[in-house]
Amino acid sequence: MPDSYVKIDLAALEHNARILTTKYSEYKHFIGVVKGDAYGHGYEAVNALQKGGVDYFAVSSLEEAKALREHNKEVSVLCLQPVSLDRLDEAKALELTLAIGDTDYLKRFIILTKNNKFKVHQQIDTGFNRLGFKDQKEIKEAYDTLTQNGHTVEGIYQHFATAGVFDPHFDEQAKRFVELTSLLDLSSIPMVHMGSGVALLGHGKFPFANTTRMGLVMYGYNIAPTSYGGGMKNKLREYRDGYYRRKYRLSPVNKDVALDLIPAMTFKTRVIQTKTVKAGEYIGYDCAYQAKEDMKIAVLPVGYNNGIGRQDFGRVVEIGEKLFPVVGEIGMNMLCVKVDDSIKTDDEVTLLGGEITLGMFSRSSGLGLAEALVGIGKNNVRIHNS
Ligand SMILES: *Cc1c(COP(=O)(O)O)cnc(C)c1O
Repeated sequence: MPDSYVKIDLAALEHNARILTTKYSEYKHFIGVVKGDAYGHGYEAVNALQKGGVDYFAVSSLEEAKALREHNKEVSVLCLQPVSLDRLDEAKALELTLAIGDTDYLKRFIILTKNNKFKVHQQIDTGFNRLGFKDQKEIKEAYDTLTQNGHTVEGIYQHFATAGVFDPHFDEQAKRFVELTSLLDLSSIPMVHMGSGVALLGHGKFPFANTTRMGLVMYGYNIAPTSYGGGMKNKLREYRDGYYRRKYRLSPVNKDVALDLIPAMTFKTRVIQTKTVKAGEYIGYDCAYQAKEDMKIAVLPVGYNNGIGRQDFGRVVEIGEKLFPVVGEIGMNMLCVKVDDSIKTDDEVTLLGGEITLGMFSRSSGLGLAEALVGIGKNNVRIHNS
């Protein structure tokens, strides 16, 4: 066993997928978003998620699609970013569904695919201003061009920029989608999808949408908007949200959605040395930390090379069901924690998992939730078990 490793619980992934596809069974298709090496979980995740009811997958690039196909040759896969036009043969060999959202691209695509027909999802830009068509006529023309040239428009979709909890942007995007696609018959397109996990949990289903995409939530994190706790800050939040809600007549939001999800990723290491430090001594680079009292510390063989990040806004680790704080600068491959007398060399340490939630892990270095998962997954030995 390596000193540090990431454990991926495939049974948890299957469980999460089943929970979601059962609870939201009003959707006909579930697209599991597995870009970024399945958010750091590896493409082994695909078969587990498929067993739990996810029937379509989405990646970002041909390289990701190739890695996915090592594990699953049959399942439908949508590539969310435009495939380079000189690599369409590769896309065909991988049996990819292409996302098309640009008229210049489409024109060249049509010329290059005289004898090579694809399944396509039309990408609509309703205000994210990244990929996608943003003109009503262009959208209709693209649909007609694709179908008249023998391609299959299997899907059409947009992406939300916000969670729509107290901002008007979410509802505006939904409204714009309806306007932009009004020259098409949406009911004749097999897959219409609007949003990602937070839209799935936080908002009702749009009557014209029959498919949903989900990322983070499948990996075991309930990202539903939460209701207000106690305290002054929450009172202010509630007041502000209520104000926007009335001002913009926002659609209702589901808060505190109960979902029995299991985080699939845990990240562990072990203590490689312990020592005592006397009051007044410094620990680590730049003497950034001075011991105020005599203490025992444990050295761990992980640092920013392992996806932890270099910043420390109060990181803690778990050893033997107790939490201990990081002291001193986080190095490339090592960090120190302040421990008690019970801790010894070789003790198992949990960096993510147990008491340490993904929220705690990521906040401690100023990382986003998905960013933290991707960083951990990419930079450590991964062990998949079911
Ligand atoms: C990443 C991504 C998703 C998944 O988002 P989550 O917030 O993880 O659910 C969905 N759709 C698109 C287009 C994406 O890029």
